[in-house]
Amino acid sequence: MLLKKYCFDGKQKLDLDKLPTDSRKDSVDREKILKRTAENQKSMQELQDKLYADGKEGLIIVLQAMDAAGKDSTVKHVMSGVNPQGIDTFSFKQPGAEELSHDFLWRVNRCLPRYGKMAIFNRSYYEDVLVVQVHKMNRTYHMADRITGQKDREFFEKRYRQIRNYEEYLYENSYRTVKIFLNVSKEKQKERFMERINQPEKNWKFSHSDLKERSLWEEYHKVYQEVINETATKENPWYVIPADQKWYARYLVSEAILRTLRDMDPHYPKMPESERALLEECRSALLREED
Ligand code: ATP
Ligand code: MG
Repeated sequence: MLLKKYCFDGKQKLDLDKLPTDSRKDSVDREKILKRTAENQKSMQELQDKLYADGKEGLIIVLQAMDAAGKDSTVKHVMSGVNPQGIDTFSFKQPGAEELSHDFLWRVNRCLPRYGKMAIFNRSYYEDVLVVQVHKMNRTYHMADRITGQKDREFFEKRYRQIRNYEEYLYENSYRTVKIFLNVSKEKQKERFMERINQPEKNWKFSHSDLKERSLWEEYHKVYQEVINETATKENPWYVIPADQKWYARYLVSEAILRTLRDMDPHYPKMPESERALLEECRSALLREED
């Protein structure tokens, strides 16, 4: 199975430099992959319908990546065809004053899907150990001295633990979490930035600050690797997906979601015998109307 080597569940350590960003390493056939993605989308629709009807478990899909890795288009393509009633998407941006005056999971908790629904987190609480760590934003936090007085290391190790505990808490409260890192190469990012600059209809996607983040590429990669190793667990695994070719990334993302949905194994609710009799009465009443 192609997905297996990209799944991290705490057993094996992730070495980001060793994982491919390019589909060519897997020698796959593009046409076959496109066909399988379409099949996966169909299976996803069927399972989502059951998940919604069953209403017993919620599914959270966390999408993390460097800029221009294709988060937005992955959401658009992989989820196309899924009933919009059963899914919500949330983009986590730089926190505002209201958000910063609460704990970092406050805004996340408000976005949890109700049981039966799916939620896509386009960026997530992982930003609070990624961008915050790279830019040492924790040093600007307005918090009690016992928090701000800690060394950075201590602060982030605690956050890793808090995230592990939070995800465990969610799992034990009928949620499943699929965590995806779209692993794009630095060269491909440059290519996509160039397109965003050269094509007027893509200009809006580019921000000059993206170049500043790009200059911190190695730093981000180091932190991503640590974050994934610290938070990958059996129940809440990470998928580190090669993202240089969007068609391949979309396929692997659909596989990861499908794998989880199959594991959740939702069923249409069964009508209790006591209510079956009532159904029969309704059927008879409707039939009588025709006379
Ligand atoms: P695109 O790929 O289209 O640029 P994006 O997800 O990068 O989409 P932007 O509006 O460009 O969206 O950026 C959102 C920014 O908010 C990111 O730079 C991200 O790192 C930042 N951000 C998100 N959460 C936090 C957080 N908790 N603390 C600080 N910055 C955050
Ligand atoms: Mg951006």
